[in-house]
Amino acid sequence: MVEANIQSGGPPKLPMQGVPQPGREEVLHLPRVHISTHPVMRHKMTALRDKNTQPPEFYRLVKEIGALLAYEATLTLTLEKTSIETPMKPMVGERLAGGIGVTPILRAGLGLAEGFREVIPDVQVWHLGLRRDEHTLEAMEYYNQLPHKVELQVCYAVDPMLATGGSAIDAINVLKKRNIPRLSYVCIIAAPYGLLKLSQTHPDIDIYVAALDESLNDVGYILPGLGDAGDRQFGTF
Ligand code: URA
Repeated sequence: MVEANIQSGGPPKLPMQGVPQPGREEVLHLPRVHISTHPVMRHKMTALRDKNTQPPEFYRLVKEIGALLAYEATLTLTLEKTSIETPMKPMVGERLAGGIGVTPILRAGLGLAEGFREVIPDVQVWHLGLRRDEHTLEAMEYYNQLPHKVELQVCYAVDPMLATGGSAIDAINVLKKRNIPRLSYVCIIAAPYGLLKLSQTHPDIDIYVAALDESLNDVGYILPGLGDAGDRQFGTF
């Protein structure tokens, strides 16, 4: 709830105003948190953050960063043996065991999910719509197109900005009800506040992050961040 600023009699308090936030160093070594150090990722992140990067280029970069994150997040997936024949002779190869799911949190997660599909074309995409209440910053579910029957080894919830952590926590709560053996959360930029909250609320998931930023501003935007990831992908300014 937005607190009324009773003492000053002024306008309602902004949602993150005066809220203590952890620093970067406090969350750098959280268990199961993986922060990319890849130079190509860092290069693309600079282009993505630049305010002069226009929506078509921005969307392309989100997809490319999604593909790089997909490589990092799939590093420990389970394989199973499979017999094939090359043009030269039979051999035993390997393939991913079970299905792979990706859940883009609408709408900003769409570009990231496309990046995952470029790496794993037969990934199952399940759309989940969560919106932040502007005043309370609480996540509200408005669209849920998840299948009822799933046989996956892992599902990745993807959303570019891990800010206060509200939507991320809710998305994982929704996915946990589907009995998927392994869940991961993948984002482009995390604020220490949201990262700590997500990691403490769901210590049993892996969290993959392209970059860890400094803090949240009073209205819950990430600094230095990149602005609104949905607007910048889809040009809705
Ligand atoms: N969502 C965004 O798109 N950007 C932020 O900085 C925080 C949440």
